[in-house]
Amino acid sequence: MAGTLYLVPTPIGNLGDLSPRAAETLAAADFIAAEDTRVSVKILNHLGLKKPMVSYYRHNTETSGPQILQRLLAGEDCALVTDAGTPAISDPGEELVALCVEAGVTVVSLPGPCALVTALAASGLPTGRFTFEGFLAMNKKNRREHLDSLRGETRTMIFYEAPHKLVSTLTDLVETFGPDRRVALCRELTKLHEEIVRTTLGQALERYREQPPRGEFVLVVEGAAPVEDAPVLTLEQAVERVCTLYEGQHLPMKEAARQVAAETGFQKKELYRLAVQR
Ligand code: SAM
Repeated sequence: MAGTLYLVPTPIGNLGDLSPRAAETLAAADFIAAEDTRVSVKILNHLGLKKPMVSYYRHNTETSGPQILQRLLAGEDCALVTDAGTPAISDPGEELVALCVEAGVTVVSLPGPCALVTALAASGLPTGRFTFEGFLAMNKKNRREHLDSLRGETRTMIFYEAPHKLVSTLTDLVETFGPDRRVALCRELTKLHEEIVRTTLGQALERYREQPPRGEFVLVVEGAAPVEDAPVLTLEQAVERVCTLYEGQHLPMKEAARQVAAETGFQKKELYRLAVQR
């Protein structure tokens, strides 16, 4: 009989957040697949455990994944851990889970520390509907496309970010959503210097531009006002508005189309195409 793949969340900063069930699962597994064995060995030492480990990280998923699957199919139980938080959430694991599901191997996901949920819950922003956006791409074009796709997003949006890229990300968020959009910047969650700054995107940019931040961040950004609050325009009226912004306010046509797309929910490309035909 095949073994089971256990997804074991580990603390995002506070060792006390390792659950008893996570500890039991690590103790019972035949082997541990770890993103970085040097990081995970510290948790095992903390628990007084010695376990065979294999590494499973972003750049070896194609070779390591099938090897782990073979061991599971042969009947061993594997606990997957990453450096911090829940495996498969902006962390290696997604491919291994897909591989196991496809091969009919049971996957058991333990609930536990996850930076996005911790940040959302404390943000003070609506939690009823939200969208997790992970890390924005480094590549300018992909980043722009990603942000453009969120212009009309009404749900609360969650982003992961590294401290050295925070200022450039805030600059792009201000450009996309405007300076008045509310944001909760959740830094060093569960750690000694945990800090949650609830402010607007514009003020956040001012604050961190002067004082570059340290530590890990989750950004929780308020969604756009629901479309019901905005006047409902027909496609023709929306195109008319693009032309008005272009001619009357001298906005570049692309920018006018982008703005109206965000206001109305129509496709930017469609608005642009129709507006240039006028
Ligand atoms: N799988 C992890 C999880 O469940 O949250 C996320 C891993 S991802 C590679 C790392 C990112 O998570 C960081 O860049 C940061 O955005 C966020 N993060 C992780 N720990 C955090 C913490 N203690 N405080 C704030 N953000 C954190």
